Amino acid sequence: MTNKLKYFVGNWKMFGDIGSIKILHQISIFYAKFKKKVKKNKLIICVPNTLIHSFKKKVQSNIISIGAQNCHDYPSYGAFTGSVSALMLKNIGAEYVILGHSENRSKGESIGLIKKKIQASLNVKLNVIFCIGETLKEKNKKKTFSVLRKQIKGSIEKKFNLNKIIIAYEPIWSIGTGKIPSVYDLNKTFKFIKNEFKKSFRSKTLPTVLYGGSVNDKNISILSSISEIDGFLVGAASRSPKKFIDIIKNYYK
Ligand code: PEP
Repeated sequence: MTNKLKYFVGNWKMFGDIGSIKILHQISIFYAKFKKKVKKNKLIICVPNTLIHSFKKKVQSNIISIGAQNCHDYPSYGAFTGSVSALMLKNIGAEYVILGHSENRSKGESIGLIKKKIQASLNVKLNVIFCIGETLKEKNKKKTFSVLRKQIKGSIEKKFNLNKIIIAYEPIWSIGTGKIPSVYDLNKTFKFIKNEFKKSFRSKTLPTVLYGGSVNDKNISILSSISEIDGFLVGAASRSPKKFIDIIKNYYK
């Protein structure tokens, strides 16, 4: 097990209400004790916008950080009915924002639009969790690397604050399906993403890259053997305190 900082990020998607704070309370009780033994990790829960403010006030930010799941590309305030900007998320206590999630790309979010959202978020000093990933068809046609390259190069620029961008590799065919890539493929893909990022933006350091897609308390022991993986973006299992806690515990077993 490496000594590098590991991330455990929950993506609640369009689930949760005010009462769901009990999920965070249970995770906090576990994590406050756990953190004394295993220091080098970070817990982030990305909740619906409706919960950010109240959850932020109720959780200790040294235990759990709160994030959002998307934002508008316009940097501040404007006539965009129904939308929320990065500035507004920052002002109510979000520290992170997930951008480029495949569920939003599938609704028409383009690589160019995601770039504007990344820029708007970085401008207000939000940390960005930038999702990339290929479809099953692209994987079968051996296009994974070219798809990832296009997504990375199309939405990030060298002048961005690269230290505030975390990449989440989420193969679309893995999200919510119970399937995960082979260890061989993950090793290859994580090396590719890190090197591509470093080369494209002439960055001095390798980026932090998370894995997302059907992570659970069982497959985490396989995933933990891959040292290139810097953490996990967890969807469904992050809404159950037991499942999320077991993922963290089993990772360190
Ligand atoms: C996600 O949608 O970001 C995700 C990883 O979902 P799941 O863990 O449910 O596959």
